[in-house]
Amino acid sequence: MLFERARQVFPGGVNSPARALKHLPSPLVAKAASGPYLYTDRGRLVDYCMAFGAIILGHAHPRVKRAVEEQLERGWIYALLTEQEVEFAEAIRRHMPSVEKMRIVNTGTEATMNAIRLARGYTKRDVIIKFDGNFHGSHDYVLVKAGSGAATWGIPTSAGVPQDVVKLTVVAPYNDVDAFLKAVREVGDRLAAVIAEPVAGNYGLIIPDAEFLKALREETKRVGALLIFDEVITGFRLGLGGAQGRFGIRPDLTTLGKVVGGGFPIGIFGGRAEVMDLIAPSGPVYNAGTYNAHPVSVAAGLAVLKELETGEPYRIADEAAGRLAKGIEDIAGRLGFDVVVKQISSMFQFYFKKGDVKTPQDVRESNEKMYLKLHEIALRHGVYLTPSQFEVNFTSATHTREVVEETLAALEKAFQQLKTEIG
Ligand code: PMP
Repeated sequence: MLFERARQVFPGGVNSPARALKHLPSPLVAKAASGPYLYTDRGRLVDYCMAFGAIILGHAHPRVKRAVEEQLERGWIYALLTEQEVEFAEAIRRHMPSVEKMRIVNTGTEATMNAIRLARGYTKRDVIIKFDGNFHGSHDYVLVKAGSGAATWGIPTSAGVPQDVVKLTVVAPYNDVDAFLKAVREVGDRLAAVIAEPVAGNYGLIIPDAEFLKALREETKRVGALLIFDEVITGFRLGLGGAQGRFGIRPDLTTLGKVVGGGFPIGIFGGRAEVMDLIAPSGPVYNAGTYNAHPVSVAAGLAVLKELETGEPYRIADEAAGRLAKGIEDIAGRLGFDVVVKQISSMFQFYFKKGDVKTPQDVRESNEKMYLKLHEIALRHGVYLTPSQFEVNFTSATHTREVVEETLAALEKAFQQLKTEIG
């Protein structure tokens, strides 16, 4: 079996923990993907993971494919400036005006690591505040009470991160203004930056109150620290302006990834020109990368932005998520499950619990076992929901009404079966 071979060569048999699916005997094996579908060793599945949010137009989108093919014809790496990357950056800045200048790197992890280093270099301070359950990639500054796979696997604070580094990362509860203000007071004049997911997509989906985001903006400004919005998931997913456009908040620095690379490796950090100008070679904060602004990722990203600018992909993807959220609520309600559904744009997640979900604590109080059981049953009915309670479901421009109807019919059967199985 492939998994046996994989286990011989990869820790846990995978190359990223969230792929391991702790509730299944073996991970899914992908063979191909097209539109809303994944073709796997378990057959064709409607995909709601969408590469953890990296895909918004649907898998193997023809125009993205063509842009990449055209790039390949011209060679695929130069390690030189290109006109295309300038055009790409100009498009990003047009849609997200807070990103006056940027650097294009390869992953969201690199983007947040560099944004934090830059904030420290700019403020000449060393402490950052992050939030419980937010995930900013897998580097030392932020693997403290992290979400996503780190939460799924019960290792929110990674081994191997030096205590001296952990001490510089103060963790505050998400979506709690008073606790945040208290944390800022405690850190005092050592606070370099506050980093936050403006809509949290790595501990299920947590949509914060507008006042929380406003407090982050006002308080960082007041104490001379920088506000970093990690929009690796939300950037170009919650509309062209991202979460910052939607909530009307202008952070000092922003990190992007996923959607903006069209499924090819990318990360971007950017923001106030005066701050970004501290990045080498114009300033003393170092960042460099052989693959920075990789032409293939930039070509794919530009193709995605051009599609998104028509508005049509958002219309379809957002409508799909809305219908699914409502449909799941209806099915669960009819069958007598206490289920809370959260949705914003093309992101949704549901929780087996009473009440509401507004904080990571609310997510912890939901019945994770039931989610995983339903996940497993849904898989047998051809639907690949996001594989953890601590991740988010994503729709794309290929999740048409028919696909959504097909999904809801499958989920209806899955919920019924869940009811039978739990007696
Ligand atoms: N920030 C956020 C908000 C993310 O969701 C992720 C990845 N899930 C990252 C950063 C890290 O991005 P990457 O996996 O590209 O390193």
